[in-house]
Amino acid sequence: MSDQQKFDERIQDLVGEAEEKPVRREKKEKPELKPSIYSLRLDELQQWLQDNGEKAFRAGQIYEWLYEKRVKTFEEMSNLSKGLREKLAAAFTLTTLSTLVKQESKDGTIKFLFQLQDGYSIETVLMRHQYGNSICVTTQVGCRIGCTFCASTLGGLKRHLMAGEIVEQVVKVQQQLDETEERVSSIVIMGIGEPFDNYDAMMNFLKIVNHDKGLNIGARHITVSTSGIVPKIYQFADEGMQINFAVSLHAPNQEARQKLMPIARAYKLDELLEAVRYYTKKTGRRVTFEYGLMSGENDSVEVAEELSALIKNIKCHVNLIPINYVPERDYIRTSRSKIFDFEKTLKKNGINVTIRREQGADIAAACGQLRAQERAEETK
Ligand code: SAH
Repeated sequence: MSDQQKFDERIQDLVGEAEEKPVRREKKEKPELKPSIYSLRLDELQQWLQDNGEKAFRAGQIYEWLYEKRVKTFEEMSNLSKGLREKLAAAFTLTTLSTLVKQESKDGTIKFLFQLQDGYSIETVLMRHQYGNSICVTTQVGCRIGCTFCASTLGGLKRHLMAGEIVEQVVKVQQQLDETEERVSSIVIMGIGEPFDNYDAMMNFLKIVNHDKGLNIGARHITVSTSGIVPKIYQFADEGMQINFAVSLHAPNQEARQKLMPIARAYKLDELLEAVRYYTKKTGRRVTFEYGLMSGENDSVEVAEELSALIKNIKCHVNLIPINYVPERDYIRTSRSKIFDFEKTLKKNGINVTIRREQGADIAAACGQLRAQERAEETK
């Protein structure tokens, strides 16, 4: 059995038995699925050009059209020969995503619902902060991790996104911002899906958006968050990229964690923390632990003490998330005063801690509330 098969077996079907299994709707006609040109790293594009009788340096020109001028058609790439433009158009698509819905919140947050070539839909969120614009991208259609408080996992996993489908979320939003001369300045990989379950596409995405000829977004302005897929944490630590790294912890011990997150049955808390320690040692960087506060579940002062003891020797920072309401779930958000008590306890114990500011809650664009529109259609 290959490593990938073993891995798949270990994390398969974490979505509880009670959940309906995803049913793929029969599509009458198979749409023609051209690969997205945004899936190609610069070196891959150079190789493709060479394989197709063209000069490798054209890749730099194409990247400039894609990521600096951000054109919407191959036609517009005016310093390429007509022949090359036709070859590109025959092999690739520039518009894998089409905008189905664009919803703006009172606080300026914008939620986009994009449709993919095969009809599935995904969500992308633009958040506006004083320090710049940040975009939250989706890495999978659905999710198979099964966290009991999260909406993204409700219909299971439909498919992984290709790197280009993740890159294009950023390009599409940037194209909109171009109208007002604004820029996407940071990226969080915290939309629908588990990025470490779609590892290779996620890595290509990172390389493309980070490349100085790509979108040129600095590694320190990009954050990836995982539910805790241990072997991939080691792999990620060894990549040598200065990306910010976050782990969804949500509980102070194994028993409590596996109740909230079935992934904890596949990868135990002590294994997870060992991998996190490896990461901090290898990269010299601190890790962020995300901790969603759920009333009566994981939010008492005693739990805060237990959590402090668990992580006190790890180079870390805790981000407390007041849990967002998901109608299908029973969890209730912790009250403000109890959130502050929890924070105070961590602080007293010398743990770095912040409380996440909420954005886009009025349009269900907040963390954990995203899910494919499609789910509603499926059950019709
Ligand atoms: N799969 C990855 C990244 C996507 S979720 C992960 O699990 O880290 C981004 C963050 O939102 C995670 O910390 C996740 O646990 C949290 N989240 C999920 N559902 C939530 C909810 N209902 N309210 C608040 N945060 C939630």
